[in-house]
Amino acid sequence: MEDRCKTVQENLAVWQEEELPLEIRQQCDEHIAQCSRCRHAAEVQREVSKALRRLRQLHSGITPPPSLWRNVSKELKRRESHKQRMVQWQAAFASILAACLIIGGVWAKLNHSSAFPAEQTLQNYRQWYNSQSEPVYESRDPAAAAKWLSDHLHASVLPIDLSLSQAKLNGADVVQVGGVKMGRLLYLSGTAHLAIYVSPAHTEFRSLNKVTADGNKMRETSDKNHFTLFAWAANGDGYAVVSNAYNECETAAVDAERQTNLP
Ligand SMILES: [Zn+2]
Repeated sequence: MEDRCKTVQENLAVWQEEELPLEIRQQCDEHIAQCSRCRHAAEVQREVSKALRRLRQLHSGITPPPSLWRNVSKELKRRESHKQRMVQWQAAFASILAACLIIGGVWAKLNHSSAFPAEQTLQNYRQWYNSQSEPVYESRDPAAAAKWLSDHLHASVLPIDLSLSQAKLNGADVVQVGGVKMGRLLYLSGTAHLAIYVSPAHTEFRSLNKVTADGNKMRETSDKNHFTLFAWAANGDGYAVVSNAYNECETAAVDAERQTNLP
């Protein structure tokens, strides 16, 4: 490889973020304009930066262990040894994709542990709230909805009756939230739309603030649309109530928590 190409390609990540001194940046721009190999490298770099940003967004709140990076480079070396005859950039591109996949896989495994994807749950609620779609399983009966969810999640889901907090059940859905299959119960209380998310075995809420609602230990978070999420763990399952109305959300969470934490 030409010296010039080497210099340009080693600086692509910084070039991408527009952090290079102006003069050097211009030299890079000029070179990339006339060198197809470096242009291709720049495209690859752009894709990788995008993929990494996506990974970071998906898994915010998770700190990868230092061993992750060592394992990734070990894995890459092993894979590369089979690919020595590939053209340089094809090989590099393949390694980069492989790295993204490996990192994604390890992260997914870390995430799989028992972390409840709270941010993605808020996001799921936001999407539902904008469409206000009817639930797949329509029912006013908490016991019937719990049975339907138990069958679909292959887990035992307890009935949650919010009639004491003035909320009526509309029905249940099964949703994919941050790679986790969850049950979602939809309730209506006046103008408050309540959704209870049930996630078997996801009982950790690392990124959430601790609150004590009416003597119950809970976690709370909210987004910029003022949707609130209250979360708790009971009998090995994770629960979250999300709503567009703060007070109703808190009341429902206290009510629901009591029903799931039966002695
Ligand atoms: Zn070049």
